[in-house]
Amino acid sequence: MIINLLSDTVTKPTPDMQKAMWAAEVGDDVFREDPTVNALEAKCAALFGHEAALFCPSGTMTNQIALKVHTRPLDEVICDEMSHIYQYEVGGYAFHSGIGVNLLRGENGILDGPMVEAAIKPRQDWLPKSSLVVIENTCNKGGGGIYPMENIRAIRQVCKKHGMALHLDGARIFNAMVETGDSPKDIGAEVDSISICLSKGLGAPVGSVLVGNQAFIAEARRVRKAMGGGMRQAGYLAAAGIYALDHHVERLRDDHAHARQLATALSELNWVENIRPVQTNIVIFDLKAPLTAAEILQQLLQKGVKASAFGPRTIRFVTHLDVGAEMVGRAVEALRDVRG
Ligand SMILES: *Cc1c(COP(=O)(O)O)cnc(C)c1O
Repeated sequence: MIINLLSDTVTKPTPDMQKAMWAAEVGDDVFREDPTVNALEAKCAALFGHEAALFCPSGTMTNQIALKVHTRPLDEVICDEMSHIYQYEVGGYAFHSGIGVNLLRGENGILDGPMVEAAIKPRQDWLPKSSLVVIENTCNKGGGGIYPMENIRAIRQVCKKHGMALHLDGARIFNAMVETGDSPKDIGAEVDSISICLSKGLGAPVGSVLVGNQAFIAEARRVRKAMGGGMRQAGYLAAAGIYALDHHVERLRDDHAHARQLATALSELNWVENIRPVQTNIVIFDLKAPLTAAEILQQLLQKGVKASAFGPRTIRFVTHLDVGAEMVGRAVEALRDVRG
């Protein structure tokens, strides 16, 4: 069987999750009559200490809705150059919201307060208005790096001082929290909105939840409909999310241990140039020239391990629910067999 390290999005619902899905009570969510969607939204809002939440089909949609509701056309969003909202959402910030990006180069995708403050544009008729900061915790392209709480607090202070909003792209926020022990309420208290993914490490098949205050979510609900994201009997999907939040959070630690195991194996191979610091479930490493990612991925695939290129000489592994300890052992053996 293929060991699929492409992404933590490749997981299939477990038998118990499927049972929870089929047992869900459902209704038409566009009329807010789906009790399971309502329960998921209430659960997420309460978890992060916010007033309301909104279930959406994807993390791209929750992020894009947040950008739209927090900004006006001709504004700009300050974020790291590695941000998902900049790299992997098809330039949607310009398309949906008519805004620009002010890109910073943080440390593996992690920004700090002074860096953000220095980037804020003065209010001039000829400049975009810096109205929003987006932070990503953990940072995907940064190798799954965790935001230290003091950075989040410092960025929050800067945002308050300048009347700006702060959105957290928390697609993998649970991976961060199981490592740091920060509580969802502590993190929730520092940001205006959060998007969380249920279909990443948590193992649900579909879904993302946007969290914020009543007024923000009321507007977000309108934007979701405009984007075509108003779903009907979505409770079947929301039930998977509730199940995931109840059963798949603590086990993220296993994925992190597996990622460290892969990184340790890589560190002993002479064809690996360097490995980004591994803090959660993502391992990004560079190959020594003239090796290419395509060559190594081809060899790995022949040995039953699937992964993706993150650059011409860069490879990413992501560990998840469907990669158990035995598979990680086999992946390590496959790595040792590669001709570098
Ligand atoms: C996956 C991801 C998203 C959302 O992606 P979808 O595939 O649209 O659900 C957003 N932010 C980050 C950091 C991600 O890794």
